[in-house]
Amino acid sequence: MRIFDPHIHMTSRTTDDYERMYAAGVRALVEPAFWLGQPRTSVGTFADYFDGLVGWEPFRAAQFGIRHHCTMALNPKEAGDPRCRPVLDLLPRYLEKDGVVAVGEVGYDSMTPEEDEVFAHQLALAAEHGLPALVHTPHRDKAAGTRRSLDVVRESGLPPGRVVIDHLNEVTVGLVAGTGCWMGFSIYPDTKMDEDRMVAVLREYGTERILVNSAADWGRSDPLKTVRTGEAMLAAGFTEDDVDRVLWRNPVEFYGQSGRLDLDTPAGGEALFAGNSVLRGTPRTTA
Ligand SMILES: [Zn+2]
Repeated sequence: MRIFDPHIHMTSRTTDDYERMYAAGVRALVEPAFWLGQPRTSVGTFADYFDGLVGWEPFRAAQFGIRHHCTMALNPKEAGDPRCRPVLDLLPRYLEKDGVVAVGEVGYDSMTPEEDEVFAHQLALAAEHGLPALVHTPHRDKAAGTRRSLDVVRESGLPPGRVVIDHLNEVTVGLVAGTGCWMGFSIYPDTKMDEDRMVAVLREYGTERILVNSAADWGRSDPLKTVRTGEAMLAAGFTEDDVDRVLWRNPVEFYGQSGRLDLDTPAGGEALFAGNSVLRGTPRTTA
């Protein structure tokens, strides 16, 4: 099973996770820029975080045989903080970098007017830079948030095929299925979706335009939930080809629209199994 995790926050995971992921078949991933828990109080901390997403983290992933890409954005949770707003002026510089394959996570947290503005602005940035967009749907009031997100996407003029609406569930998937947007699902140990419910969604909606991720962050989460979903699909009678489509070819097709995917396996994986798992060399620096 070859796996491309289209949404996973490796910044909050350890090298043990990279090892386990490689051993289970994960060869590529996308790490979206997100909220770090502790509110940020200046633009400088975003710049350092973004530099980590295009420098240190791909370097670390490569040591373990995994190709790392990222998405960049001012996340919805911090969109309302005036101290963070200047991040919008910082973004264009990062959206030109290798390894940045979409704008995201954008979308709603509490659906405030500030969030509206920041969301629309960032979809415009995606259009300007020829990048797809990753839209996070809110945890509260999910159906209303999904509907409103789809309105904003429609108004942006971005082709729906360049947009993924993420963190969907049985209630919200139906709102997105007919729009032409991609449908993203985060599989968690005890919240959001689990792998068996995901299999039921795949039975009902098919495998087209569906992305499955583990989202793994520092909360209770599991970076192997993509693998578990693949196993649950096989157990339920889906073919190896179906699994490959959902867990590899779909994310490659979606993020490939950026023209920036790099899917050559880095040498790190073999080194790892030759007994050398120590971080070597120096990370890419970013000007
Ligand atoms: Zn996320």
